[in-house]
Amino acid sequence: MQKVLIANRGEIALRIIRACKELGLKTVAVHSTADRELMHLAMADETVCIGPAIATESYLNIPRIISAAEVTGADGIHPGYGFLAENADFAEQIENSGFTFIGPSAEVIRLMGDKVSAIAAMKKTGVPTVPGSDGPLPENEEECLKIGRRVGYPVIIKAAGGGGGRGMRVVHKEEDLIKSIRLTRTEAGAAFGNPMVYLEKFLTNPRHVEVQVLSDGQGHAIHLGDRDCSLQRRHQKIIEEAPAPGIDEKARAEVQARCVQACIDLGYRGAGTFEFLYENGEFFFIEMNTRIQVEHPISEMVTGIDIVKEQIRVCAGEPLSIKQEDVVIRGHAIECRINAEDPNSFLPSPGTVTFFHAPGGNGVRVDSHLYSGYKVPPNYDSLIGKLITYGATRDEAMMRMRNALDELVVDGIKTNTPLHRELVRDAEFCKGGVNIHYLEHKLGIS
Ligand code: ADP
Repeated sequence: MQKVLIANRGEIALRIIRACKELGLKTVAVHSTADRELMHLAMADETVCIGPAIATESYLNIPRIISAAEVTGADGIHPGYGFLAENADFAEQIENSGFTFIGPSAEVIRLMGDKVSAIAAMKKTGVPTVPGSDGPLPENEEECLKIGRRVGYPVIIKAAGGGGGRGMRVVHKEEDLIKSIRLTRTEAGAAFGNPMVYLEKFLTNPRHVEVQVLSDGQGHAIHLGDRDCSLQRRHQKIIEEAPAPGIDEKARAEVQARCVQACIDLGYRGAGTFEFLYENGEFFFIEMNTRIQVEHPISEMVTGIDIVKEQIRVCAGEPLSIKQEDVVIRGHAIECRINAEDPNSFLPSPGTVTFFHAPGGNGVRVDSHLYSGYKVPPNYDSLIGKLITYGATRDEAMMRMRNALDELVVDGIKTNTPLHRELVRDAEFCKGGVNIHYLEHKLGIS
């Protein structure tokens, strides 16, 4: 691979360009008309405007992206996260057009994109899953009631094609089961074009713990430890940390080994994440993300491994350059997602950043495309940067985060920095191990 086209925008496009530069690869940045001022365009070897602000005409438009690769002579395409990153058709068309998709094969994306087939694949390879219907719910309503009774209430009905926290419904008692199944099926058919639903035990107090993997598709796979992403609002992660605090060591070692084996069994290529709910010392698989994730830097900080560089290398056909025994988790890292939004109403707050000052110092990392004078467009996700701190201990990483958040200045638009400042001083969060409902309870929205 010689030249990489980055089919994304914002902080992740910048992150990918930095990795490409370190690898000595040329870069092509594609952008919409709303994104002419993005920082990474100034760093790319070439830029191509692929369409108007609306994402379906630019960042989600497969023919335009492939044409841009064609005209610039790029041979690799990095999807980042979001947009087309988990679109199997995109991966397939890239490979069919003779380019390299920086991610797993289209088949693996398809397998993991359907939650029912993903769970079946995990069961086969030995990754622990949530007790449930073990496949789609049948049409026969008596059968559904039997499954509900076997699993035990509360249960959650989920759409096989769901994503982004949509297409799920919790059922507390048998009387409501059939109605909920019908509703979720109808919604899933309309929203995801697939009415298939399945049922799982609803865990009442879980934490969100995920395992980062790297795999070369040539029989070698490693894990880079885990991350706790339990601080969520509406299923959107707000703060993440690595490693997850207070996890049972035996269960951890077991689940990490299972994830590595799953990568080998799947012929998985690239970076990936196995997401789990963790409750009472046990892990339960919920889904796999077949792409680089927003929160990957905290794993980089505690392992010293550049995940994006390694992802590009293995997708270019090289074997993994790291062995499991070389991966040492040292210290602790925390990430705060800085969003252009009102800290109270959470409404997006696009506009011109009149002044930007990034924090610094020992153990502080800022992954952001902001600069003074940059205008945050209203058309895309509100993530404007990630503030990451590292420390020898969790307490040190937390202390550095408090100070770094106090140093951060973003003027001209509203950001969620005040919320972060409060959360990193929250007694329960500071103790470690809060569950996925903690933030919403604290905010008084559930
Ligand atoms: P999506 O693909 O939409 O993100 P997930 O399957 O990852 O859907 O679930 C999203 C969130 O929904 C989880 O992080 C968790 O908060 C909640 N959730 C999903 N399954 C369960 C379950 N069986 N028990 C309790 N909560 C669940």
